[in-house]
Amino acid sequence: ARGLVWLRNDLRMEDNTALYRAARACDALAAVFIACPETWRSHGDGDNVVAMRLRTLKSLQASLAKKHIPLYFLELSRFAQVPAALQQICGKLEVDALFANAEYPLNEQRRDAAVRDTLKQIRVPVEYCTDRTLIPPGSLTTNSGDGFKVFTPFKRAFIAQHDNSDCGFDPLPAPRSLGPDHGNRWPEWIALAGENNLVRSIPDSVGDYGVAPGGERKVLDWTVGEGAAKKRLEAFSAVIPDYHKQRDFPALEGTSRLSPYLNCGAISVRQCARMALEENGGRWAGSCEGASSWLNEILWREFYQHLVVHFPRVCRNLPFKPETEGVPWANRPSDFERWREGQTGVPIVDAAMRQLNQTGWMHNRLRMVVASFLTKNLLTDWRLGERYFMQQLVDADFAANNGGWQWAASTGTDAAPYFRVFNPYSQSKRFDPDGDFIRRFVPELEDYSNKDIHCPPRDLFRGGSYPVPICDVTQSRKHAIEVFANLKSQE
Ligand code: FAD
Repeated sequence: ARGLVWLRNDLRMEDNTALYRAARACDALAAVFIACPETWRSHGDGDNVVAMRLRTLKSLQASLAKKHIPLYFLELSRFAQVPAALQQICGKLEVDALFANAEYPLNEQRRDAAVRDTLKQIRVPVEYCTDRTLIPPGSLTTNSGDGFKVFTPFKRAFIAQHDNSDCGFDPLPAPRSLGPDHGNRWPEWIALAGENNLVRSIPDSVGDYGVAPGGERKVLDWTVGEGAAKKRLEAFSAVIPDYHKQRDFPALEGTSRLSPYLNCGAISVRQCARMALEENGGRWAGSCEGASSWLNEILWREFYQHLVVHFPRVCRNLPFKPETEGVPWANRPSDFERWREGQTGVPIVDAAMRQLNQTGWMHNRLRMVVASFLTKNLLTDWRLGERYFMQQLVDADFAANNGGWQWAASTGTDAAPYFRVFNPYSQSKRFDPDGDFIRRFVPELEDYSNKDIHCPPRDLFRGGSYPVPICDVTQSRKHAIEVFANLKSQE
């Protein structure tokens, strides 16, 4: 049989469920990737995440070629064009079955359902596999059969199901080589009728997509591909025992920085979980505190992926908690601009935003701090922050980003009430005690003492090189709490 693997954000050879199943079921194998820049843009994907995706794809194409498996790169503009294009491709290549790994945001699910319906007409079955998550979203529910709305019970239920059992995350091997004797024969090029959508080579630069020229610069710092991701996982396995002690300090390299690789699929979440489970005696909450703490974060990722399936309203630009639709956001453009540029006059917030702008990545503790600051202290709609993060992050992922923003804005799944507002100054003193992180990204403040750097005394402000704080954090916190309290009383 002739199998076609439709690659998306699962760009690796090993432990790739769709690729593995296709290789087992078929004796001839090819892969296709479909770029949809217009839809990507409408989803807010920025240069960094698109560049990471394309470069990883290029590296995967080379790995596939070594095994004589061709990869066709097709460029359309929107998801809506995908079903017809795949129908043509499957027809031209005389494909017997299509394999892909499931994706969960609403538009992706709609696209995939339409592909399945369309290919039915030419009798090409489509198999969507569980691969982006550890278990299929929808398979873990409360006793009443609903999706979990809060992380801790989700985690408890997950662990109850998977601790002490063979977790079933055995590694899936990469496909074997299919040539040259094997005769895995496919045409070199395929041209599709109708639109201007020839199969072509993978572009070298995201500039070709007109996302915004120049942005790829940030991705250069990240080595790309499956090998790089594995190396990073291996290096992290040596320090994982200390993860729980270091993970909150942005000046340290205390976290894995695997998120960009997990999101484009250069590494699988099973490979990550397996490494940590090995460190932890096979337990999700075991004797290695660092590994347990890291597995907890892997489960946060899982939780948000499942959430978009159970509560698709979050994919429609709506808050998870419907009652928070009525928050009277202040949305002052100059506040947003100063936040975005790292010019708020609150050092830890500015350092974090400049880290994002300069590197395309931000430490998790700081993502929470800046999101709380924007949505609570500046009372700015979380959707503006969410979108900006999507545009900048090299690890941009709808589920994790939307989940994180809504959590911070108290419109989401946070179990704590709306009066959780991070105090950026206390966070700064606690998690960047010597100001090392601030100094790295806010050079204007490098001469301040370890004590003063968190909240430089106004009389020490020199020559206006650093702005005075945009707001009084105590007053603005009080105001935000009042706004949310009013909302509650109107229910
Ligand atoms: P590690 O600490 O090494 O954790 C390992 C992995 O667990 C991460 O790579 C990630 O896949 C997952 N993970 C860790 N923390 C979380 C979390 N809180 N939620 C979901 N998954 C988690 N993560 C993204 O991958 N993409 C995003 O677009 C994104 N946007 C965010 C926006 C906000 C406002 C917040 C508060 C968090 C966001 N996160 C996002 C989650 C988290 O900040 C990053 O996953 C983490 O900082 C990545 O660094 P790391 O790989 O070193 O993480």
